[in-house]
Amino acid sequence: SDHHLSYPASPDDMDWSTYYPGFVAQNPLDNGEPQKTETSSTLAASRSLTKDVEVVDIGCGFGGLLVALAPLLPDSLILGLEIRVQVTHFVQDRIRALRAQNQEKNLYQNIACLRANTMKFLPNFFRKGQLSKIFICFPDPHFKVRKHKARIVSSTLNSEYAYALRPGGIVYTITDVESLHQWMVEHLEGHPSFERISPEEEAADPCVEVMKKETEEGKKVERNSGPKFVALFRRVEDPPW
Ligand code: SAM
Repeated sequence: SDHHLSYPASPDDMDWSTYYPGFVAQNPLDNGEPQKTETSSTLAASRSLTKDVEVVDIGCGFGGLLVALAPLLPDSLILGLEIRVQVTHFVQDRIRALRAQNQEKNLYQNIACLRANTMKFLPNFFRKGQLSKIFICFPDPHFKVRKHKARIVSSTLNSEYAYALRPGGIVYTITDVESLHQWMVEHLEGHPSFERISPEEEAADPCVEVMKKETEEGKKVERNSGPKFVALFRRVEDPPW
């Protein structure tokens, strides 16, 4: 349960250095002198990264999307968020192994996985406008009406996605459940911060193919020749008031 989830009090309190060791900045405070009064803030500063997490996979499952996006977006830090402990550990081990196997080429340094309940703690991890892409791939459908509040796309959560995304940023959705697809379109298109992206632009975005082919759920649907419903939404500028 959430009692065992640890999350930062604010994005500034998050130490990403163990997640992205390949992107840890040289310590600007380290002048060779021993630091007598090392406060937690100087400690945090000494562990800062050269860039911020920019791409998030919500409910990343076994990490297929992360692994496929790593070479496609080599300059972006990509983070999978997953609520299941064992699954999170699996993905973390998978990334560790890929990094070790590709040490010379320094690959897979830009992906990481963290355990979190994205329905509750998203603003604890990301500042306003920090993200450029949010992926929501094959979310649990929660078919029953009384379970709809458990869906990962809702008016309230969409406001959190809008907060974390910069204007021009994109929410990617895919599902094999048509009624859930309609639900996501209705709730995201109906939100003042989002507009749906045209089919032409959608087809031209290489991330869409990855989302269809490289997610574990996408592969499962492929094997069963099931349908895949895709919809992308752009974060629009806030109105000037
Ligand atoms: N995205 C992956 C894929 O396409 O292969 C996994 C899809 S799976 C059907 C849904 C995933 O979302 C599960 O791994 C589940 O544990 C995770 N999940 C559900 N609710 C979540 C939440 N509130 N926060 C984080 N992850 C969640």
